Amino acid sequence: MTSYDDGFATRAIHAGQAPDPSTGSIVPPIHQTSTFIQDGVGTLRNGYEYGRSGNPTRTSLEVQVAALELGTHASAFSSGLAAEDALLRAVLVPGDRVVLGDDAYGGTHRLMSRLHVPLGVVLDTVDLTSSAAIDAAFAAPVKLLWLETPTNPLMKIVDIEALASRGRAAGALVVVDNTFASPALQQPLTLGAHVVVHSATKYLGGHSDIIGGVVVTSDDEIAEQVAFLQFAAGAVLAPFESWLLTRGIKTLAVRMRQHSANAAAIAEQLVAHPSIERVYYPGLQDHPGHEVAARQMRGFGGMVSVAVRGGRAEALRLAEGTRLFSLAESLGGVESLIGHPDSMTHASVRGTPLAVPENVVRFSVGIEELDDLQADLAEALGRI
Ligand code: PLP
Repeated sequence: MTSYDDGFATRAIHAGQAPDPSTGSIVPPIHQTSTFIQDGVGTLRNGYEYGRSGNPTRTSLEVQVAALELGTHASAFSSGLAAEDALLRAVLVPGDRVVLGDDAYGGTHRLMSRLHVPLGVVLDTVDLTSSAAIDAAFAAPVKLLWLETPTNPLMKIVDIEALASRGRAAGALVVVDNTFASPALQQPLTLGAHVVVHSATKYLGGHSDIIGGVVVTSDDEIAEQVAFLQFAAGAVLAPFESWLLTRGIKTLAVRMRQHSANAAAIAEQLVAHPSIERVYYPGLQDHPGHEVAARQMRGFGGMVSVAVRGGRAEALRLAEGTRLFSLAESLGGVESLIGHPDSMTHASVRGTPLAVPENVVRFSVGIEELDDLQADLAEALGRI
């Protein structure tokens, strides 16, 4: 059972969430405004001037997420990819080389290869679970090392502490996409990463009702550059979305505990099923990254993938055959989802080194009653 012994659940509820002093409203209000009155030309109240440069609701979210990742600064964006793009533009110049884990989110690869490579960035995708591949990658200069763990959708685990120290020794900036684990289960800044990025659309929000992204760091210079990009390019998270996100985050600790418990039980159920060739879940003892995951995570999360015996047709029948697991892109909400990565989330990387085998099905295990989820899967598997 995932336990939080460092005040995480308390920070999730209180950091940046002080009651409104003028009314006593326990929940900070939504500052649904585009601009702020000035008491004289250039005399601002608490620094707020215009909604793109800053909004108190967005600030309250940014303080909350920074506290959860144990960073000092956070900037919230209108999507995870907008957050990633701002970070890349803030830190890279033409000629810089990026090393990206080869099982990274397909959209991250598309962003780098289609938007940043044409601007002169050099991109190499590398299996970050292979020490030979890591050695080869560091034989040339690396400006930025970008990793995800667990990865999407094959649930590979990379050792954040080891890679961060390798990256730092080589003078690289180390970025971790912490979307899958969330700060409830894993805090990469404490393991040596310089920056954490999130698709807040997923576990942080937790209710499948917003698109958002966050960049978190304790590096003042990076934070300043990212905040400048946020202001100058303007992909800010809107006040209502910021407020919904602060609301969702308050239950992150309990949600992640339940996601992890349900996913662990479902992984065991799937291991035992004759139609399943392989289960990808870092909580399983025989998962190649289990030991590292147990060291750097305090729960194994809610994402499970399987290779279905047979091929594409069988995988599609499973993905289309469940009742409670809804067929949809995305993950991390309270409701269970199922997807076929090769035709959905990872269609853009088909034919590249990041392609996902076509018999893989991915589950975002929600927090419904476990018995209901397991019955749904048993029925769907019985029909494939
Ligand atoms: N990172 C990961 C691991 C993701 O799964 C996603 C989206 O699926 C993103 C980043 C991009 O985030 P968004 O869809 O909020 O732009």
